[in-house]
Amino acid sequence: MKDTESRTDAEGAPTADLGANAFYGLEQRPPNRQRRPQNVLPDEQIRALLGRGLVAHVATRWDEQPFVTPTSYYYDRTAHAIVFHSNVVGRIRANSERHPQVSLEVSEFGNFLPSNDPLEVSVQYRSVVAFGRVRVLNTDDVRKALYALLQKYLPDMRAGREYREISDQDLRRTSVYAVDINHWSGKENWAARAEQTDGYPLLDERWFTFTNFLEWQKSW
Ligand SMILES: Cc1cc2nc3c(=O)[nH]c(=O)nc-3n(C[C@H](O)[C@H](O)[C@H](O)COP(=O)(O)OP(=O)(O)OC[C@H]3O[C@@H](n4cnc5c(N)ncnc54)[C@H](O)[C@@H]3O)c2cc1C
Repeated sequence: MKDTESRTDAEGAPTADLGANAFYGLEQRPPNRQRRPQNVLPDEQIRALLGRGLVAHVATRWDEQPFVTPTSYYYDRTAHAIVFHSNVVGRIRANSERHPQVSLEVSEFGNFLPSNDPLEVSVQYRSVVAFGRVRVLNTDDVRKALYALLQKYLPDMRAGREYREISDQDLRRTSVYAVDINHWSGKENWAARAEQTDGYPLLDERWFTFTNFLEWQKSW
């Protein structure tokens, strides 16, 4: 799949010939610096993607062992934080209290992008990677956060109408977290078609008519 080391880095320095020997170190690069400026998603589009995204993958750790949790979430623009919830006890809660430094990802995808060049095969996507510190919300904020989460996914439903109000007992059954975002980056690859090579026979057009990623998956 595409996104092998590109021809030049963000500063325009050649990288293609360096390959696996190219130096990459966080001592010298901010964690959200991207190598491909042409793919950078502006901040307002990052906010919009976080607003409509369905699933966040939150990376925490227990000492040396990383742990990625998929979860529903919402983005609180005012607090500049990602909010999600889990069991009251469990690994994500334990990890969060032990090491508050986290990273998370939210993405969406469109069409599958076939190519006759194996390194150009790709998929249309937009994604956000964020870095920050996670904190467990206190009881006063938990109910508000849970209602905000419900509001995102069930915007036409109301507490006390379609579903019951959140009780004090409910609040004791869940942990709710806010990740205060320190850095983020957004990346987009939404080309109509992937690049093709002249050095090999071109793909039959039928491969381009069957491009929705989920439809493509059904053919596997
Ligand atoms: C699309 C999606 C949305 C979700 N949304 C929510 C949500 O809004 N709220 C919520 O509470 N949970 C949600 N979950 C479940 C979530 O991923 C966790 O399982 C849950 O939060 C419990 O986490 P924990 O660390 O307490 O689990 P624990 O049970 O303490 O984890 C112990 C071990 O169980 C395994 N494990 C935990 N979670 C998963 C998983 N998802 N898949 C495979 N193995 C796992 C791991 O090996 C882990 O080390 C969602 C899952 C998916 C896929």
